[in-house]
Formats: sequence, structure tokens, C-alpha cells
Amino acid sequence: MMVPTEPRTYGNYIDGLWAASVSGNIEASINPADRHETVGYCQKSGQEDLDRAVAAARRAALIWRRLSAPARGDFLFKAANVLESRLDDIAETMTREMGKTLPEARGETARGVAILRYYAGEGMRKHGDVIPSTDPDGLMFTTRASLGVVGLITPWNFPVAIPIWKIAPALVYGNTVVFKPAQDTAITAAKVVECFAEAGLPYGVLNLVTGAGSVIGQGIIDHPGIDGISFTGSDGVGKKVALGAVARGAKYQLEMGGKNPVIVCNDADLDLAVDAVISGGLKSTGQKCTCTSRVIVMSGVYETFKDKLLHKVRQIKVGPGMVQDTWMGPCASENQMQTVLSYIDKGTAEGATLLHGGGRMQGEGYEQGFYVLPTLFENVNPDMVIAQEEIFGPVLALLKVDTLEEALNVANGSRYGLSASVFTRDVGRAMTFIREMDAGLVRINAESAGVELQAPFGGMKQSSSGSREQGQAAIEFYTSIKTVFMKS
Ligand code: NAD
Repeated sequence: MMVPTEPRTYGNYIDGLWAASVSGNIEASINPADRHETVGYCQKSGQEDLDRAVAAARRAALIWRRLSAPARGDFLFKAANVLESRLDDIAETMTREMGKTLPEARGETARGVAILRYYAGEGMRKHGDVIPSTDPDGLMFTTRASLGVVGLITPWNFPVAIPIWKIAPALVYGNTVVFKPAQDTAITAAKVVECFAEAGLPYGVLNLVTGAGSVIGQGIIDHPGIDGISFTGSDGVGKKVALGAVARGAKYQLEMGGKNPVIVCNDADLDLAVDAVISGGLKSTGQKCTCTSRVIVMSGVYETFKDKLLHKVRQIKVGPGMVQDTWMGPCASENQMQTVLSYIDKGTAEGATLLHGGGRMQGEGYEQGFYVLPTLFENVNPDMVIAQEEIFGPVLALLKVDTLEEALNVANGSRYGLSASVFTRDVGRAMTFIREMDAGLVRINAESAGVELQAPFGGMKQSSSGSREQGQAAIEFYTSIKTVFMKS
């Protein structure tokens, strides 16, 4: 285990150099498990830093896009090897910076390695098609052109995997990057960028600028030197990205929130469903966009399911993510904890019944961290705020229904449509769910959270906008199709 050392100050990475912000401002990143521990300091950058990063990325784009795709992929293979060699250090930094447990942080970092290798391989796969022409002497085919410079804006909840699932396809398809991570996880982001630097990526191809969303994030949205923006975060900020990008004709892609339902049918394997709701709803302290938040249970099994769920929720061990037997860590920041607590208050005020939790963890050591108890509500009406808004914390709402039709109405009664699960042994019910559920990720007898990296990822309604991320779907955002017709 890493021994905490004197907190280091991390620079921006611009044109191949680590440098302090021109603004001269830095910001502390603190440990949500212990507010007295500073993990490190990052730059609080300004417009001038962003302008320098964009200029570097534009210069590098001319050279980078001329490199062959397999050669670009080779850099990703090298970065994967460096990340793998630093897995322990980066996972521990992630746990100290945003609170998720060490096994989860290690799993996420390993996923980052796998994503890099997947997209490294993309450099060797086909990127176009031959299309039959009516002209017997003609040859018609498609090829792909990179966008140019892309701005990547990422949240704090997956501080390794999300940046990598944007950076890796951006680079292999020939783009250069200006990367702005969430300020709460800027140190983890800097360590990820160090892996690319050590892999020998040419100067200017990947640039890191840390700073406030309202300054650097907004700066990316408005910057005329940025050709495309890939954003993951809240739908409120996502709308700003969309408006700004449309106003200046830039391409954009948004991955936003969810209010993900799980339907438990009368014929479900209840133990399987309980485990999936616990894992899908409360792992990562409920801070995944695909986390289960509404549990819609048919009346025939409602009481049995509730008792089994309560029994498991009561056993959850909350504590610092670095401690071995911790199952659930703190909320990622004080701000996040206050948001979750205010939703719990709203649920109680609206008349939902609190079955478990409902506040901060009490006891020695807990007051210095941002710990919230795993919380379970029942008698939740589908229109209540806790059944409609994304809480992004360890809060589950139980809703009772009589039929699958009613369950689907409740499940679809949301402005979000990211992920949804059903638990049933009946193929007909599963088929109805696949057909009728308005969600980008539809899962049968499996938890709502988590999708394999080679599959398209994204949602419907206000959860996503633009083309999908992950797998081969990512090529749609990071390139444009060129249709070629040639004759001798
Ligand atoms: P957030 O929207 O507050 O921040 C996301 C990023 O946007 C950060 O880098 C932030 O600094 C930046 N930002 C903030 N204000 C900005 C502005 N005015 N202009 C441009 N950029 C700005 O989100 P968060 O709190 O970091 O993350 C939680 C949210 O992310 C949740 O809603 C969650 O559902 C969502 N999320 C979605 C997915 C997905 O793939 N669908 C994955 C993870 C998280």
C-alpha cells in the first residue's frame, strides 16, 4: 500500500511539457474519507492556458493525422503497458481522491488498460467499406477523416475509465486532444496523462488543462480552435455544451445522467435480484450514471423481496476505501454529500417511508469524511422528487406495482433513459421488456450498472445525445465519413 507522502503539485501538460498555470493559481484536492488529508495540488487554469493547449493541439494535428492508424495504435499499446505497470499507484490515488474502494479503483484502472488495448487494435481494423458502383469502370468506397482537435470534458466518478474511453478512440482515429477532467479528480487525471507522456506520445497530441468547469469547460465549448466536444457529466452542463457547440457549428457528444430502474417480477430469482440491486445501486456509493435508483417490485413478491434486501443493506460496511473490509466508501465530495442528504430530506418530506439509513454515518472517524448511510425508502410514489431526479448517491426507492405493464409505465415515466434491468424467468416478459423499455442499455437478470467495453454505451431521452461511446461505435463521433469515387 502506498505511504502518503508530502502532497505534490501537478502541472498542466501542454505541448509535451508539465507547466504551472499562467494564472499562478493552484487548488488542493482533498480526500473525501478524511477532509484533513490533501492528496495533491492541481492547477486552477485560465483562458491563456487553454489557448496554449489548443494551439499546441492544432499544430500537432497536422502531423498526427498523417501517421498511419497502426502506428497511432502502437502508442496506445505502449500507454497501456505503462498504465498497467502503475496500476497500484493510480488506483490508490483514485481511492484517496474520490473515495471509491480500492478493489473498485483497481478494477477501473485495469479496465483503462483493456480499453487502451482495444483501441490500439482498432488501428489495425477496417475503417471503411467498398460500395458497388453503377459505373463498371468506377470504384466507390468510404474512408474516415479525423475531426481535428477534440475537447474532452469528464466527471469525477470514473476518473480513469471515462477519460481513457474518450482519449483512446480520439487518438487512434487521428485527432489531437485537449483534456479537461473534473477538478475533484485532477491528480488522478494527471497520473493518467503521465502514462501517455511516458509512452512517448509526440508533443501536443494530448494536452491536459485543469481548472473550473465554468472557465476551462466553458472555454472548450466556446473555443473556435476545437472541432468537436465529447462531454460526460450532468444533464444541466450537457445542455450548455449542446447549445454552445451548435452555436458555433462544432460536433458534440453528450453522456449524462440516469434514473435507472430495476423491475422485479413475481417469477424472479429474488436472491439474484437482491444481489444485483445492492451491487448495481450501492457500489461506488451510488455514484455511477448506470446505478440502480428505482426498484419496481411486483406485489406478489414485494414483502419477501423487501425483507431480503433490507437484510443485505444492513450488512453493508461503510468506511474509508483504503481499508480492506470496506464495502462502500464516502461520497466523493462534501458538495455531493450535501446533495444526497438534501434528497433524503425531500423524500421524507414528501411522505416516503424510510426503511434504512437516511443520514450521515455516526461514530468515531466518520465525521471527518463525507459518509452517508446506505438508504432505502418505500411507499415511494412515481412522481416524487426521489423517484424522478438523479440523486447520485447510496439511495434506493422501492415502488410496488401489480403488473409488468404498470412496471413498464413507472420505469418509462422518467426524462432519463440510460440503463434498465428486469428480473424474470419468463422469456415472454423479457421480450416485452426489451421491446417496451426506453433505455439505451437493457439488461435481463443482470444489474443495471456496467457494460463491457467492446459494446456501444449510451442512453435515450435526456441521458445522451449524439453517437454512442465505447466499442466500434466510437468511430462515429471521432471521424467523418468520406465517400470516394474514382476512375482510372
Ligand atoms: P458535472 O456536469 O458537474 O461536471 C462534469 C464536467 O463538466 C466536469 O469536468 C466539470 O468541471 C465540467 N463543467 C462544469 N460546469 C461546466 C460548464 N459550465 N461548462 C463546461 N464544463 C463544465 O458532473 P459531475 O458532477 O462531475 O458528474 C456527475 C454526473 O455525471 C452525473 O449526472 C452522472 O450521471 C454523469 N455521468 C454520466 C455518465 C454517462 O456515461 N452517461 C458517466 C458518468 C457520469
